[in-house]
Amino acid sequence: MTSSRTPLTSLPDDELHAFLARQEQAYADLQAEGLRLDLTRGKPSAAQLDLSDALLTLPTTTKDGAGTDVRNYGVLEGLPELRAMFAELLGVDPAQVVAGGNSSLTMMYGVVVDLLLFGGVDSPRAWSQEEQVRFLCPVPGYDRHFAMLEELGVGMVNVDMHQDGPDMDAVEALVRDDPSMKGMWVVPTYSNPTGAVVSQEVAARLASMPTAAPDFTIFWDNAYALHHLTEAETKSADIISLCSASGRPNRVVMFASTSKISYAGAGVAALAASVDTVAWYLRHLGKSSIGPDKVNQLRHVEFFGSAEGVRAHMRRHREILAPKFAAVEDALREGLAGLDVATWSRPLGGYFVNLDVMDGTATRVVRLAKEAGIALTPAGASFPYGRDPRDRNIRLAPTMPVLDEVRVAMAGVATCVALAAAERVIATRGSDD
Ligand code: PLP
Repeated sequence: MTSSRTPLTSLPDDELHAFLARQEQAYADLQAEGLRLDLTRGKPSAAQLDLSDALLTLPTTTKDGAGTDVRNYGVLEGLPELRAMFAELLGVDPAQVVAGGNSSLTMMYGVVVDLLLFGGVDSPRAWSQEEQVRFLCPVPGYDRHFAMLEELGVGMVNVDMHQDGPDMDAVEALVRDDPSMKGMWVVPTYSNPTGAVVSQEVAARLASMPTAAPDFTIFWDNAYALHHLTEAETKSADIISLCSASGRPNRVVMFASTSKISYAGAGVAALAASVDTVAWYLRHLGKSSIGPDKVNQLRHVEFFGSAEGVRAHMRRHREILAPKFAAVEDALREGLAGLDVATWSRPLGGYFVNLDVMDGTATRVVRLAKEAGIALTPAGASFPYGRDPRDRNIRLAPTMPVLDEVRVAMAGVATCVALAAAERVIATRGSDD
C-alpha cells in the first residue's frame, strides 16, 4: 500500500538494494511490453478535434455581419464578430483586439520582431539599438517562448514560477534598476507546464511595478484561459485594466487562440492590448499582410455563435481530458507516493502535469522511458537554453494518447522515476564512503 512506504533515502542499505532490484525487474518487464507511446507534446487528441468537425462544412455564407465579402482582401484587424467574441472571452474591449491567423505564437514572434526593429509605443528607440535586451522567464515555462528569444538574440533570466504566478520579489528586484530588462513571459492561467494561475495580487504587482525600461512589455500568453479541467472555471486577472489603472497602458500584450479549442492547425488567434498598441501592431502588420484568413474567421464565428458557445464547447473537451489527468495522478500516486522521490502538479486546467523528480535524475528518467518505448519531452525543455539547473523537471503531456495509453505510459514513467531515484540514492551513499 502506498501510504505505508518508507522514503527511499531512509531505507537501510539492504532494503534499498532490494527496492532497486524490484524496480529493475519492473523496468525489464516494461521493456518487454514493446510499447510505443508518446507523452511529448500538448496536442489535442483526435476525439477532441472531432468535436469541431462541423467547421469542415462552414461557413454557410460569403459575407460577415457587416456585409464584408470574406473571400476578398482586407479587414487587417479581423472580422468584427470574431473580435467581439474574443473580447468577451478575454474580458477586454473589442477595439483592443486583433483577430489574426492560425497561430498566437506567430503573433508573439511578430511583436518581438517589431519591438526589436522599431521599438514600441513607449520605446525611446528600437530594442535592437540597445546594448542588451533581456526577458524574465518564469520557470518552468513554455519551451517555444524560450526558443523564440534564443533565436532572436534576446537574453533570458530565470525567475521561479510559483502557484500564484512568478516570484514577484525577484521580478521587482530585477526590473527596478536594470534597463536591459525589457520584457517577460507570463502564461497566466493554467500555465505551461505547472498549471499555475496568476493571482489578482500578483497581476496587480506586475501591472504597477516600477521598471527601469520605460517600455517593459509583459507577454501575457493566455493560451489556456478557457481550458478548465474542473467545474471551477478560474477567471484570469484583468491585466489590461490593471496596467491602464497603473498609468502603464502599453505594458502588456495579451495573446490567445483556438488552437486547443477548435483545430490546432486551423484555428484562429488573437492579440489584445491598449488601443495605441493595437494601432502600432497593425501599422507594422499592414506591411506584411493585406488581411487575415477571413473565411476561417467567419467559419469560427458561425461554429461557436457566441462566447458562451465557446465555453460550452470547452466543457465537452473537459469530459475527454479530465479522465486522462486523473489517470496521471492515479499512476503517480500508485507508483511513487510515500517514497519522497518526486512531486507533481494537480492542475485544474491546461494541458500539462509538471513532474519534479529527484534532483539530478530527470535526464536519466527520460532516457529510461525512451528505451522502454515511452517518449517524454526532453529533460530541461521547460527552461531557457534547455538547461534545468537541478535536472529534475519533466513535463508530462497526457492529452493526445487515448486514456488506456495514458494509464500504461504513466505506470511506466513511475517505474522509471523510482528506478532512477534508487540508483541515485545508492550512488550518493557510495560516494559518501
Ligand atoms: N502558448 C502556450 C503557453 C502554449 O502552450 C502553446 C502551445 O502549446 C502555444 C502558445 C501555441 O499557440 P498557437 O497554437 O496559438 O500558436
